[in-house]
Amino acid sequence: MPRPSRIRTAPLIPGSPRRRILLKAGGTLLLSVLSPLSARAAQILAVRVWPAPDYTRVTLENDTNLKTEHFLVPDPPRLVVDIEGLALNSTLKSLVAKVEPNDPYIKQVRVGQNRPNVVRLVFDLKEEIKPQVFTLAPVAGYQHRLIFDLYPVKPADPIAAMIQKGEWSDAPVPVAPDVPVLGDPVAGAPPVQVPAAPVVTTPPGQPGAAQDPIARLESAMSGLNGATPAPPPPPPAKGPIKAPGQKIARMVTIALDPGHGGEDPGAIGAKGSREKDIVLSVAKRLKTRLEQMPNTRVMLTRDGDYFVPLGTRVQKARQVQADLFVSIHADAWVSPTARGSSVFVLSEKGASSSAARWLANDQNKADLIGGANYATADKQLASVLFDLSTTAQISDSLKLGKAVLGEIGGINRLHKAAVEQAGFAVLKAPDIPSILVETAFISNPDEEAKLNDNGYQDKLADAITKGIRRYFADNPPMAKSRQT
Ligand SMILES: [Zn+2]
Repeated sequence: MPRPSRIRTAPLIPGSPRRRILLKAGGTLLLSVLSPLSARAAQILAVRVWPAPDYTRVTLENDTNLKTEHFLVPDPPRLVVDIEGLALNSTLKSLVAKVEPNDPYIKQVRVGQNRPNVVRLVFDLKEEIKPQVFTLAPVAGYQHRLIFDLYPVKPADPIAAMIQKGEWSDAPVPVAPDVPVLGDPVAGAPPVQVPAAPVVTTPPGQPGAAQDPIARLESAMSGLNGATPAPPPPPPAKGPIKAPGQKIARMVTIALDPGHGGEDPGAIGAKGSREKDIVLSVAKRLKTRLEQMPNTRVMLTRDGDYFVPLGTRVQKARQVQADLFVSIHADAWVSPTARGSSVFVLSEKGASSSAARWLANDQNKADLIGGANYATADKQLASVLFDLSTTAQISDSLKLGKAVLGEIGGINRLHKAAVEQAGFAVLKAPDIPSILVETAFISNPDEEAKLNDNGYQDKLADAITKGIRRYFADNPPMAKSRQT
């Protein structure tokens, strides 16, 4: 069944009055020579700033593709960008006021006419940065975009970030193998024997799970941003050798991936709800619940409103050696009657249905809308990761998906009764069981209301947590010497 294109994005209408915010503060402008506007001068239609711990992005949306040159100046650090054939207008000047004082990387920005026909932007920086400057072709309601991504020279690392927030611990609480249950039994279901904590079974001939945290940290620090290829897996563990089958406890790490963010709002409901906001809220609720499980830590691939390229989401999960990867989305369709929750896993050999294939293709466009720099090493990352076999991963993902789908079926109608499969880029970590949860249809008015409801978001988080616990009960995580 072919599906027409579905409701997609671009929150603002180019050229609408909302975009044209007049600049009041003129003090920081370098207004020198104002050249008369030529009829052919490009126009800036909108400026957006997305500060985030990973990087700060500045987007200039234009009516044409702009030619730029940029260079860095040290002491104090600055990024200077010259844009050709551009008229300085109030929209561009509004950039000055859009940089927040607490921006991680930008102290302030100055905008001026450097010479006739050339506008100069000067970013005064809080620290040295590695800029990525690139353009994006018109897509999903956006016109041409010129993107400045300001990455720190020492890239943000997910483990270091978690340590800083006090969310990373390497000290599991020892548990006896026969300690009965993990908290309360799963409600509304036949009682299952759940281990008190993720209990690790050492496979025969394998070293134990313990690994020098510093080695892991250093390994993980060796590179992360949108431009850096995946670091090599950390060296094999040097922990105590355990006898085969002996149970030890180790920390279990769950990667939660709120879809979309920043330039990519995801699907938008009739009442204006944005998928990116709802899925972040659900993911945070889910994180809180999962962290209540013993020996469990949770990494969010994003914890704010900024875009993370699909490959980087996978890379972050691998850097923390995640045991599971759960991507959270909200579905949308042209017909407002489409409804229900779904769970997807990767497929190696084609999609389970044309609808699933369509959805995966649509999801995989996120990088085009959210804005990933394809000129960089992201492609290398993609080929390195995605050529590896995922047969075992898919088998585990199906088990996880079934457990989660079963629990969600207790709180919402299911769109499809079975876990579906398709080639989702974000599910392609070859060594991490990965699922994508479509929580409900944001394009269905009833479900849009539910998705905005705190009570429903809590129920969703509870259901997914129960599904994950059920999965661990049946599939205790193995001791790791890092998978290759
Ligand atoms: Zn989505």
